[in-house]
Amino acid sequence: MNVGDSELIRLSMNRNNFNEVSNPKDAYICIFNTCSIREHAEKRALGRIAAVKGKDKRGDKLIVVAGCMAQRLGKELIKKSGADIVVGPYQSPNIGDIVSNMVGLENDRLYISQDKSNLADRIPYEFINIRGDDPWHKWVTITHGCENFCAYCIVPLTRGKLISFNSDRIVEYIKGLTESGVIEITLLGQNVNQYGKDSDDIPFYKLLEKISSVEQLVKINFLTSHPMDFTEDIIRVINNSINISRSIHLPIQSGSDNILKAMNRKYTSSHYYSIIEKIDKIISDYAVSTDFIVGFPGETDDDFNMTLEVVKNIKFDEAFMFAFSPRDGTPAYLLNDSVDENVKQLRLEELISIQRKFSLEKLKKRVNKQEKVIADKISKRSNLEVSGKTFLSHPIVFTGDHNDIGRERIVEIDEVRGSTLFGKKIG
Ligand code: SAH
Ligand code: SF4
Repeated sequence: MNVGDSELIRLSMNRNNFNEVSNPKDAYICIFNTCSIREHAEKRALGRIAAVKGKDKRGDKLIVVAGCMAQRLGKELIKKSGADIVVGPYQSPNIGDIVSNMVGLENDRLYISQDKSNLADRIPYEFINIRGDDPWHKWVTITHGCENFCAYCIVPLTRGKLISFNSDRIVEYIKGLTESGVIEITLLGQNVNQYGKDSDDIPFYKLLEKISSVEQLVKINFLTSHPMDFTEDIIRVINNSINISRSIHLPIQSGSDNILKAMNRKYTSSHYYSIIEKIDKIISDYAVSTDFIVGFPGETDDDFNMTLEVVKNIKFDEAFMFAFSPRDGTPAYLLNDSVDENVKQLRLEELISIQRKFSLEKLKKRVNKQEKVIADKISKRSNLEVSGKTFLSHPIVFTGDHNDIGRERIVEIDEVRGSTLFGKKIG
């Protein structure tokens, strides 16, 4: 989501005639797009802002702090970090306008309104013809905010209520993107499966179906799904469309029903298993990835062992694993952060090491298969190789050059090295 917002920020700066420099030292305006999901992320952001401010000997840099930390701390952040302008995530597409109105003025420095009256149908048509970070790919935000209130999560506080952007406009925008050369998109939302629930618009699976019929699109990714709302309709649409990625990201968070309940996730582990069974029945070749939090308040050894059980039974292709970080303002912040920091770290290490084995096992199963790949860059090791992700989101390196970047290729997979697939282009 933040990578997508950063692209919006960049496009809106470009549209206002600001030029990007490669070294922050040379910049007059520095924009920090921040994340509040864990305390560590906020500390790092403050450290980076302080480092840039420290080097600003002439004191002429304009410091803009954007993202969830800006929304969460508001005015306090101006005092705490010395920011000149604080802009919430809802305002990302407007940052270029805000900054250009602001340069040289000392008036309003806080832009954290989440007023949806004028932004309910916000789709950045004006960015269609501005090159994104990767010209063949664009991030497409379909919902803003989240009202699920998972007990540990700061997002409902920083990003506010669920707002679904209008489906006809989303499709029109995507068609416009394909006319300007985009072949891959990533649909974004905190829980994309809830698309349309705040309005009388179509449900997510119908939106996905409509988007997949845009012929020029080679690959459609979407993030993030929620087990509570991930229905069979969605699985069927994925299976019926050749241009929807077969990589499904479905965060489970914990294998223990007690912890899932305390987290307010509104599903049980057996419900999660039933979704995986459905995917397995309907889609012949797919990858599944997830998120875990260890050390949630009250998590016992038994609860943690249930998480390990899930990892062993489901064999995720990939997992993003975190130690619980208490966030002020969330319901879990009020609970006793009962799991000792050392225990949290030990559990996290154990989980990571077990998951790593399964990730490798999954990669090895891809050897001798042919995969559709859009390469995104020249490989770090050699300029006779390019790297990208397969349709199942596995990282891959294959023989090629700059002519392959941003184009659909068929690659035969030869081997696994480290945690990457290697192969050769056959079409
Ligand atoms: N909307 C998405 C992503 C939320 S943030 C979703 O619902 O899945 C991404 C991940 O960060 C979450 O899935 C969770 O695993 C982790 N996370 C969120 N809050 C956290 C916290 N307070 N401490 C540790 N991890 C957290
Ligand atoms: Fe946070 Fe839960 Fe919403 Fe995801 S679904 S953003 S974890 S509250």
